[in-house]
Amino acid sequence: MEVAVVGCGVIGLTSALKLQELGYPVTLISKETPSLTTSHKAGAVWLPFEPTPPPKVIRWAWESYQNFTKLCHNPKTGVQPTSLHLLGSSPPPWLKQLPELSYRPLQKQELPTPYQKGICLPSFIISPPSYLSFLLDLFLQNGGRLLQQNISNLRSLPFSLVVNCTGLEAKKLVQDSQLHPIQGHIVQLKPLSSPTPCFFDKEGPLALAYIIPRQDAWVLGGNATAHQSSTQPNPTIIQEILEKCRKIYPPLQRLSPANTYVGLRPGRKNIRLEVEEIDSQRWVIHNYGHGGSGFTLSWGCAQKVAQLAQQLTPPPP
Ligand SMILES: Cc1cc2nc3c(=O)[nH]c(=O)nc-3n(C[C@H](O)[C@H](O)[C@H](O)COP(=O)(O)OP(=O)(O)OC[C@H]3O[C@@H](n4cnc5c(N)ncnc54)[C@H](O)[C@@H]3O)c2cc1C
Repeated sequence: MEVAVVGCGVIGLTSALKLQELGYPVTLISKETPSLTTSHKAGAVWLPFEPTPPPKVIRWAWESYQNFTKLCHNPKTGVQPTSLHLLGSSPPPWLKQLPELSYRPLQKQELPTPYQKGICLPSFIISPPSYLSFLLDLFLQNGGRLLQQNISNLRSLPFSLVVNCTGLEAKKLVQDSQLHPIQGHIVQLKPLSSPTPCFFDKEGPLALAYIIPRQDAWVLGGNATAHQSSTQPNPTIIQEILEKCRKIYPPLQRLSPANTYVGLRPGRKNIRLEVEEIDSQRWVIHNYGHGGSGFTLSWGCAQKVAQLAQQLTPPPP
């Protein structure tokens, strides 16, 4: 039984790959190529940013973490291990629920000037341009089909099982009034050669601020403005990001932005990951609304999609 996955951002690609692992033939349908998706604009670092609904999300994050542990050995994936410094933070509740993940308090000499506390944990940095290409290549090598098409009605697709991974666009496609944009500005710099941790201030004096030292570019952020849908970079926000990140990591003083852009996270109170029966023996599995944690949760959610598919209709023998 062939499955259609709509959307080729990180959520669609990982869902398609997990379905292929079980033996389903998969057609990926997307109006855009991966390089034009929100996923391509992400930072991206493994960090359960808005962990709802717990505890499911914590499990999904952990399953993804374990997958990144394997992927980081192949340089083509664009996944690299990092030391993540959560500045201004006490250990978040989700971290206490992952005893496998060891963390330590940051020492005084590791804390940038405005900070009194912070923690350090092993994480992963993902470079979306390499990573999404890697996932798409793998999907095609596995015999997957890719169609570039704008879908206006999921019910009209000639498949018994459709997986809806359309991110923020699901708002219009399935009339989901709970979905909303969360605007995020990104400033990219040419990478510095000096190795540095990944810094993230989510709740400290400079929040929201982050520095993601990817191999292809250093990514600085950010803002997370709910219900703001403009994708035009705002010079005031760009300047604020530069000032905050230069306080965190002073060697950035001498660098000017190579690129600036805006992405819209698919915000939703809870991620929608559930089955909808649209007709007799025809289903849609919705998998969207991952906010600022799409990469972090992708593999766990994809695993759940594959489990749901198996319960609905088994793969061909
Ligand atoms: C600035 C910024 C920083 C971020 N940083 C991080 C981070 O550090 N860590 C992290 O885990 N996450 C991060 N995120 C969040 C992450 O990028 C998103 O959660 C994730 O990209 C959502 O992926 P998606 O596949 O659901 O959506 P998208 O990437 O938007 O993909 C949606 C897909 O659906 C297709 N589509 C939509 N409508 C239709 C239609 N009608 N017909 C056909 N195709 C359709 C699109 O063409 C696209 O292929 C960040 C996001 C932003 C904006």
